[in-house]
Amino acid sequence: MSLQDILYTQGFGTRRVCAGLIQQGFVAVAGVPCADAAMEFIADGLQFTVQGALWEYHEKAYLMLHKPAGYECSQKPSTYPSIYTLLPAPIRQRGGGAAAGVQAVGRLDQDTTGLLLLSDDGKFIHRMSSPKHHVPKVYEVRAKHPVDDKQIQKLLSGVVLDDDPKPVKAAACEKTGENTLSLTLTEGKYHQVKRMIAAVGNRVEDVGGLHRSRIGELALPADLKAGEWRWLTAQDLLDIS
Ligand code: URA
Repeated sequence: MSLQDILYTQGFGTRRVCAGLIQQGFVAVAGVPCADAAMEFIADGLQFTVQGALWEYHEKAYLMLHKPAGYECSQKPSTYPSIYTLLPAPIRQRGGGAAAGVQAVGRLDQDTTGLLLLSDDGKFIHRMSSPKHHVPKVYEVRAKHPVDDKQIQKLLSGVVLDDDPKPVKAAACEKTGENTLSLTLTEGKYHQVKRMIAAVGNRVEDVGGLHRSRIGELALPADLKAGEWRWLTAQDLLDIS
C-alpha cells in the first residue's frame, strides 16, 4: 500500500493532506524519513511516525478504553464531555466521511467507570452488542446500604424491572464487602445494574458506585489508568469472543 494510502486509511486526513504531510518530511518509517507519498509498504503491522508520534497500521481498529467518570458515551454529548475526546484525532477520524471513526460497543453511564470497547468494524460492534451474543460483563458495585444475602439471592433468582414483565437475573453475583458486590450480566438493558440494585431495595452509590471490570475473559488491565486507551491484541479479541 502507498504511504499516502496508509496515512489516509489510518485517519490522518484527506489524501491531499496525507500527501502534504509526507512531502513536508513529517513522516518516517522505521526511523527513516520518507518524503515519497507513492512509496509502497506492507501495511499490516507497519510502524511509522507522524510529526514524531508513533503509530501502527491497523486494518480495522479494536481498542479498549478505561472510561473515567464524568464522560458521556456519545458523539454528541448533552452535559459532560464525550469519551471520544479521550482518543487521538486519527482514531476519531479513521475511514473519513459521515460515519467516520471508532464507535463504542454499547454504552456506560456518565458516572460509570471501567472497561469499554471501541471499534470501526461494524460487524464486530453489531455482534458484540447483539442480545444473542451472551458475553458476560462483570460490574463492581458500591451500594449506599449494606448488602445482604437476601439481596444477592434475589439478584440471582431474577428481579422485574419497570419496562419488562420478564424477570432479569444476574449470571453470577457475590458480596465482596459490607457495601460492595460483584454482578455478572449477559445482557445490557438501559441502566440495568442500577435498576436491578434498586429493585432489591438498595442503591448504587452516586460517586464511584459502578465500575465494569471485565468483558468475557478480558479484564481491564491494572496498568491502564482512567482515561487511557490501548489497541486490543489478538488474544484480547479471543477473550471476548
Ligand atoms: N448498568 C448501569 O446501570 N449503568 C451502566 O453504566 C452499565 C450497566
